[in-house]
Amino acid sequence: MTRRAAVILFGVFLSAALLPAVLPPADLVDLAAAATPAAAPPAADLIVTNARVFTGERSRPECAAVAIIGDRIVATGTKAEVDVWRGPATRIIDAGGRRVVPGFNDAHVHFVAGGMDLDNIDLKDAASPEEMVRRIASRVRTLPRGEWLLGGNWDDQQWNPVRMPDRTLIDPVTGDVPVFLSRYDGHMALANSVAIRLAGVTAKTPDPPGGVIVHDAAGEPNGLFKDAALSLVAKVIPPFSHEQRLRAARRALGHAASLGVTSVQDMNPEYGDIAAYTELFERGELTTRIYAAPAQADWQDQAKIGLRHAFGSPWLRLGAIKGYADGSLGSTTAYFFEPYTDTPGTRGLLSDEMQPLEAERERMIKADAAGLQLCVHAIGDRGISMILDLFADVVKANGERDRRFRIEHAQHMAAKDFNRFASLHVIASMQPYHAIDDGRWAAKRIGPDRIKRTYAFRTFLDHGVRLAFGTDWSVAPLDPMQSIYAAATRATLDGKNPGGWVPEQKITVKEAVEAYTLGSAYAEFQEKDKGSIAPGKLADMVILSDDIFSIDPRAIRDVKVVTTLVGGRVVYESGAPAAR
Ligand SMILES: [Zn+2]
Repeated sequence: MTRRAAVILFGVFLSAALLPAVLPPADLVDLAAAATPAAAPPAADLIVTNARVFTGERSRPECAAVAIIGDRIVATGTKAEVDVWRGPATRIIDAGGRRVVPGFNDAHVHFVAGGMDLDNIDLKDAASPEEMVRRIASRVRTLPRGEWLLGGNWDDQQWNPVRMPDRTLIDPVTGDVPVFLSRYDGHMALANSVAIRLAGVTAKTPDPPGGVIVHDAAGEPNGLFKDAALSLVAKVIPPFSHEQRLRAARRALGHAASLGVTSVQDMNPEYGDIAAYTELFERGELTTRIYAAPAQADWQDQAKIGLRHAFGSPWLRLGAIKGYADGSLGSTTAYFFEPYTDTPGTRGLLSDEMQPLEAERERMIKADAAGLQLCVHAIGDRGISMILDLFADVVKANGERDRRFRIEHAQHMAAKDFNRFASLHVIASMQPYHAIDDGRWAAKRIGPDRIKRTYAFRTFLDHGVRLAFGTDWSVAPLDPMQSIYAAATRATLDGKNPGGWVPEQKITVKEAVEAYTLGSAYAEFQEKDKGSIAPGKLADMVILSDDIFSIDPRAIRDVKVVTTLVGGRVVYESGAPAAR
């Protein structure tokens, strides 16, 4: 029997036999014997053994070994139970007694943008202007011709003495490469002379409203641009080429593999990004599975060729769209019922998509009728409430169906809306890392009452709402350990809330892992294929350096990935330390 035939045959057994989710291998042997003359199951391609596997399956939550044929899991069980799948050519991975979990599925990333960030220069820890210049010089040498040097994050406050950089600092090392590097706060950026010339900015260019072009003693632009003036330069940066997108996607894929992220759900990709994924898929280079949700405004593009939710292959799917209800808490544009506590003049802003509301309602109803999955960014309590209203209108117009509405972020809930969230079966697609980041200042911004329902993981679960976890990378780190740590401890990044910020909203490590695996898989209609370690499912799993279920949750952020498997293939291996 060829391996392929074996996989197909066992696929048939398994789908027939999946009712008890985990079959004892003895039964499989019987099935195999009944179906073929062979007395033993076909040899596994790979066995992961000597492991502490968190399966995510209620019927058998823990096991010690997993057998894989092709890209699918064929058996889980004790070491002895799985050993019957061992053949002469079976590769064995001895997990050294370590914890194994299902591959992480990040339900909200900006994948190519994240890869671009990895590729861009990062100057945050450049301790002096000389160090900054040295790094810029070395990056300029490796940059493909015609590309801009972007990125930055420079921080003049850590230089001694503190001084503002200007173009004369970097011009000598940048040659004819245009350079535009933002300050770490994003409110200022430094251009070199080439970039200033390309932007057409001269001594005579007036400051735009809300922005400043900084000048030198001779009255010439010195390279620093503030706030709205940033766009004078940003607008002449050419759109990314296909090659740049491929490079960024490859960087992102490598980063994801090293962190145990085996699936991502890519929010608002540009179509050029999807073209890059398609090419990487064709070349066999995808090592993370991607579900892409382009902008809601362009919903007709997918609808007119009949793409419905989760259409595609296990590697690349389409059929979702991503809309916006409001802005963010940090910029006081998240839309609330009541004014901001620290800025009483505003309740935030509805996005332009929401104005007029009738147009948004019509778009959502039509996109839903076309079978597309609706994912909507909503952060403020009123923004969320209005999206729930619209979801209810969609159901009324198109009837009940398993459509899996999603609210992305779902940060600040009105007390009255938890039940509605549950009864409309809306998925809360949340990013726990934001909670420990915003948690440093959110109470000042929205006051002591609203803060109780902020990143309300516990209340959502208690109401039976499904959570899907992710990061919003590159807004927050892609590392799932940071997010699980955040959900389980709610210890803010400034160290001021070691017992947890709004501690009653903490959830357990197990609940956080479930939201990050099965929860995210459900949010992309893939819970039958992903999200747990069970026969028949894709062999996406991660060996961790430490057992996140038994160590102090505060130590989870230091846990590393030892091995990442996607579809039964090792896509990442750390220089694995000796087993503990
Ligand atoms: Zn986002």
